[in-house]
Amino acid sequence: MSGRLEDEIKALIAAEGPMPVSRFMALALGHPRLGYYVTRDPFGAGGDFVTAPEISQMFGELVGLWAVAQWQAMGAPAPFALVELGPGRGTLMADALRAARLVPEFGAAARLHLVEMSPTLRAAQGRALGAAAPQWHDRLEDVPPGPMIAIANEFFDAIPIDQFVFRDGRWRARRVGLKADGALAFGLDPLPHGAEPAPYGPPAEGAVLERMVEGPALALAGRIAGQGGAALVVDYGHAGGYGDTLQAVRAHRWVDPLADPGEADLTAHVDFAALARRARASGARAFGPIGQGEFLARLGLAQRATRLKAGKDAAAQAAVDAAALRLAGHGEGQMGALFKAMVIAHGGLGAPVAFDTGEEVV
Ligand code: SAH
Repeated sequence: MSGRLEDEIKALIAAEGPMPVSRFMALALGHPRLGYYVTRDPFGAGGDFVTAPEISQMFGELVGLWAVAQWQAMGAPAPFALVELGPGRGTLMADALRAARLVPEFGAAARLHLVEMSPTLRAAQGRALGAAAPQWHDRLEDVPPGPMIAIANEFFDAIPIDQFVFRDGRWRARRVGLKADGALAFGLDPLPHGAEPAPYGPPAEGAVLERMVEGPALALAGRIAGQGGAALVVDYGHAGGYGDTLQAVRAHRWVDPLADPGEADLTAHVDFAALARRARASGARAFGPIGQGEFLARLGLAQRATRLKAGKDAAAQAAVDAAALRLAGHGEGQMGALFKAMVIAHGGLGAPVAFDTGEEVV
């Protein structure tokens, strides 16, 4: 027992009854004093997990080139909002801005807005990105209006989900409650969930349906549909289906999602089909998802790696190759297939760079 957040959640359940999974997840990650992201910088070998921009500068650089191309496709609006959702240590954006110096007008027109809930990570982002004079916001809704290019890497997997379990022909909401011995435990709401959604065909007994809370995806798509622009979403996930993907990771190992809330990263796989449905319902277009490996290859990962290796010794060259393989490979422990890229774009724009082969999801 680690203590305080767990005790606070138990006290809430004792007073108000079992809570939806989304509330548990929101508290575990974002409790204003004790939430996982609020109390630490979780990235890197000594932390809990490693993200693509922390593996290699090539990731952020290629995303930066994508942003420049997207900005040009939008008619090079000046100024425009360059937004990152959940920027972590600021590594991705620092690499992206450096690569984007190829087109100085891009940097001159960009107003950098960072949507970040963690004071600890805001401080890290300030160190990495201070020269670009970022403004911080709690939510996308607070970013000033106007055309936007947004980047969200491993952001939506941290957005709380609710879970519904198909039992005896009905969906029931999963809740986090207390066992007789006082420990946290999953249970099912005794009352069936009102509607009988079946977005992925008739569910089998025991099927789990996950649904991300509405706010962040609706804000993103609504803003793009209303004010123009595009968002690149990269995350691990799937193109729809039933299944329980809630997972907790601590020190690079899987742990019980209910153990020590606030001490482990809690995520769910992103349902890209649901994200695309929401984007379209708001009047925006959705492209992809395509594998991260495919996305990076189309942006020139191989050429970038070759440039980066030039003049380096054999060990440094091998490190670049290993990083490229980890980002784009399809094998065990590699990110190229598990991670996917999707673009949500204003209806007036054509297919975005790297998504121009017509794979718009239906
Ligand atoms: N994009 C970074 C970090 C990914 S981790 C990278 O690739 O390395 C998730 C990031 O999203 C963290 O910065 C976390 O603090 C932030 N975050 C998670 N949920 C959030 C929310 N609801 N609102 C704002 N920021 C959030």
